[in-house]
Amino acid sequence: MPAVRIASFEAGGRTGFGVVDGGQLRDASAVLGVASLDAVISAAALAAVEAAAERAPKLSLEGLALAPPVTCRRIFCVGVNYRSHRDEMQRGDVEHPTIFVRFASSVVGHGSPIVRPAESSAFDWEGELAVIIGRAGRRIARDDALAHIAGYSCFNDGSVRDYQRHTTQFTPGKNFDASGAFGPWMVTADEVPDPTHLRLTTHVNDVLMQESSTDLMIFDIPTVISYLSQWTELQPGDVIATGTPGGVGTARKPPIYLQPGDRVDVEIVNIGLLSNVVVDG
Ligand code: MG
Repeated sequence: MPAVRIASFEAGGRTGFGVVDGGQLRDASAVLGVASLDAVISAAALAAVEAAAERAPKLSLEGLALAPPVTCRRIFCVGVNYRSHRDEMQRGDVEHPTIFVRFASSVVGHGSPIVRPAESSAFDWEGELAVIIGRAGRRIARDDALAHIAGYSCFNDGSVRDYQRHTTQFTPGKNFDASGAFGPWMVTADEVPDPTHLRLTTHVNDVLMQESSTDLMIFDIPTVISYLSQWTELQPGDVIATGTPGGVGTARKPPIYLQPGDRVDVEIVNIGLLSNVVVDG
């Protein structure tokens, strides 16, 4: 089987997960009797998902509502983590990673609408690489960090810029309900030997807005994992959105903000394509 891509879904009033195989999803959750990918990651049993997929019932991906790959009990986000974005936002050098958090309620899965809130017309995109933690750890050394990762996905750190700038704290502008997106699936870490050289693009209505390689992060993934784990024990299923490169809408002259009907595509080579359409809400 090629790269193992595990998607979570909601269908017929239940949640589940399975291995993506062409246009189908092999419903490993039905075989394992487990509803959430989080539980499998916590049990360090990702290999069981692959084995179960071989004999799992198949669901058509078309029309299947994909959920975020994990339930997002905690989402850590790194702010201004590419020089190209730091410069366009007119921010200076920083000694430590800028960390804020998002709630699960602020993100939807691949294919679901993202919501431009009635309170703002300054809704913006941020394409990012997401890391999903697989193994718990406190005070993780940089050299050990990659061994704590279960897999990778795409993230749209959708931002309501005026609320982000109300104060120095990012929380409101980054947590409007359904303002961000996460998916379409998790690619297991063993399929991504080097997460520091992945090409990331964001298109809005097929127009290229962001393009970068993940090697241009200011604080690389091992550094971010090490830093976070200094102050909190990282847990299986924790998500880290690793920051966005230059090319966001708010920094353009004049600014470009998302409108209802716009489609935002965040694509990372060898990971996947996360696509969501904007609605008013
Ligand atoms: Mg961001």
